[in-house]
Amino acid sequence: MNTFQDLGLNDDLLRAITDIGFITPSDVQAKAIPILLEQDTDLVALAQTGTGKTAAFGFPMLQKINIESRTTQGLILSPTRELCLQITNELKNYGKYCKGFNVAAIYGGASISDQAREVKRGAQIIVATPGRMKDMINRNMVDISKIEYAVLDEADEMLNMGFYEDITDILSHSPKDKNTWLFSATMPKEVSNIAKKFMNSPVEITVGNKNESTNQVSHEYYLVNSRDRYQALKRLADANPDIFSVIFCRTKRDTQKVAEQLIEDGYSAGALHGDLSQNQRDMVMNSFRKNQIQMLVATDVAARGIDVDNITHVINYQLPDEIETYTHRSGRTGRAGKTGVSIVIVSKSELRKIKSIERIINKSFVRKDIPDGMEICE
Ligand code: ADP
Ligand code: MG
Repeated sequence: MNTFQDLGLNDDLLRAITDIGFITPSDVQAKAIPILLEQDTDLVALAQTGTGKTAAFGFPMLQKINIESRTTQGLILSPTRELCLQITNELKNYGKYCKGFNVAAIYGGASISDQAREVKRGAQIIVATPGRMKDMINRNMVDISKIEYAVLDEADEMLNMGFYEDITDILSHSPKDKNTWLFSATMPKEVSNIAKKFMNSPVEITVGNKNESTNQVSHEYYLVNSRDRYQALKRLADANPDIFSVIFCRTKRDTQKVAEQLIEDGYSAGALHGDLSQNQRDMVMNSFRKNQIQMLVATDVAARGIDVDNITHVINYQLPDEIETYTHRSGRTGRAGKTGVSIVIVSKSELRKIKSIERIINKSFVRKDIPDGMEICE
């Protein structure tokens, strides 16, 4: 399976793929697409971030729905608003030659009546975050009683974020005999439970192993005194003038503070966290996507699943509370075959966390010194 043509996709989709510039299918695409096209089956697909999962479910769904009908036939649930918008945009791109294809994005923080109108226009596919979706079902603003396909994207993240009840509730309004496709980077117990509960002998595919998935990313740590974190960040930025980076902080407050400080100090930066309005978040994301902002300072929740090309550095300004989160952070870089660096700014008391992360990612960190800044190192 070397080309998209081999996978059985139709001409309208192949044309769009040529426009987008995808040449060969990624592993998860090569495995999932033929199965989903040929079989009416449930599917569990395990693949790390950045492996091309959106297209792995997006293309088969587009090919299988009936675009002459205006009925909602596919539902994609994803954990965050940003991700929801991103998937929606990708589907629009994939389906640009599928005449009559409509997709609606449903997520919190934006006008519910606008979204209802979007659905009513005849969206064959709805991409939604669980909270707003549940709300709109309860208000009879959407009807998913005839869907044939449901995708649980980033299932591990959705469950991490506490959406179990919402997902259960939403799916109870959909037909029993639909096909459910679950995509996840990891397979904790909660995910296998949900697969057992909602799925019917799913086909299972796994792509790569932990080792391979992180090969594109090198991991480095810089040991500093806790109070010198910000100085260290500036030095890193100075040493990498072409940096295009997501900087992770632990709290909304720190995120805002670090971004403001960077801007004040003349760096190209922006903040992304849950205390901003949806409008502000969209604006920051757009500027970042267009490379108008070099450093996006973000919380884990706000940055979840975000796919922006060519991120050169992921910087852990602070380590996450859950070390598993580190995998998701570092997965923002080294995507689609590119290389990237994941940096941790760490104080002496946190060093043992580096050891735990090394065990999880199955790779070693390289210790580096802050450029030109011996006085701020230990
Ligand atoms: P995931 O959902 O697995 O994290 P995405 O679907 O967001 O991954 O895709 C990651 C990146 O890889 C995106 O920028 C996407 O455009 C790109 N991509 C996906 N499939 C291909 C492909 N076959 N060839 C080249 N780039 C691809
Ligand atoms: Mg994804």
